[in-house]
Amino acid sequence: MDRNLDDKTTGEPRDTERVTRGSEGGSWKRDLSDHLAGCLPYRLRYMLEHALRDRDTNPRYEPIGVWVQGPGPGLDIVMEYLPGNDEVQEEADWVINRLVENDIKSLPDDFLEYHRATMSPYRGMRGEIVETEDYATPEECAACVLSRYSDRPGHCDCLADR
Ligand SMILES: [Zn+2]
Repeated sequence: MDRNLDDKTTGEPRDTERVTRGSEGGSWKRDLSDHLAGCLPYRLRYMLEHALRDRDTNPRYEPIGVWVQGPGPGLDIVMEYLPGNDEVQEEADWVINRLVENDIKSLPDDFLEYHRATMSPYRGMRGEIVETEDYATPEECAACVLSRYSDRPGHCDCLADR
């Protein structure tokens, strides 16, 4: 799962380019171009959060939550934790509260990277940042990713699981 990181291919898809740069012009080409623009992939980036468990006896990282950043604008972020992690959830909520208090209207580009790099390994670990086009909303992505680590049997039935 290394297709995240430095992939900055956020330009227009080639099909759209071909259509808009076509030499003949023509309104059907513009219509097609508009249509393709409406179908541009909806990219989300997420990272799993792990908690350090049994630090003294049998230390290990256990997945407890996920942060999902949408394309924005605004504070387009969802931080969702499995049941039993209320304190961590509260801390994450405070990250957002502080942004709001500081009148920050949209997330910095390196928001996930920053919080990944600054987490204390004695508290937990945030995993690789994954880019995905499999979900329609950050909420859907968070629910699906978390369901993989839930105690409950079964799995979320969203399209991304096929
Ligand atoms: Zn799912």
